[in-house]
Amino acid sequence: MVKQMSTESYKFGPYPIDPKEVFYSTPLSYALVNLRPVVPGHILFDHGFILFFELCLVHMNLGYRVKVDGPQAGQTVPHVHVHILPRKDGDFEKNDDIYDAIDVKEKELKAKLDLDKERKDRSMEEMAQEAAEYRSLLSKS
Ligand code: AMP
Repeated sequence: MVKQMSTESYKFGPYPIDPKEVFYSTPLSYALVNLRPVVPGHILFDHGFILFFELCLVHMNLGYRVKVDGPQAGQTVPHVHVHILPRKDGDFEKNDDIYDAIDVKEKELKAKLDLDKERKDRSMEEMAQEAAEYRSLLSKS
């Protein structure tokens, strides 16, 4: 069953998050779709590791990569969060190329945050649609 956060004012570190991006929430934490996903289904958890384990169950039938950064590891949003990146055969020519792809996306985002360069973000419409699909899947589980 999908539990709701008591407030609608989601913040991802310093950044306000539109509730349309959020597809799962508990009283302490929430999960959101990604502005710049590295692979399809690359999602984020705000802090709350109980939520993390709950959502791992949802992903049980997929291969996935979990990623937790700190500032020294290239984190761009200064706030504890967890990435889940679904993997499938052949999604990258060499399996570990995903790490380079993550680095590229993070550098792009950092440049945008630092210099406000050309936006390559996904549209809110696209993110809202993905979040709605996940909400629907979770309501059936
Ligand atoms: P990190 O570099 O580990 O801090 O990761 C930050 C992640 O947050 C990246 O995958 C970004 O694409 C994602 N991101 C940043 N701002 C937003 C936003 N407003 N909505 C959704 N995802 C975001």
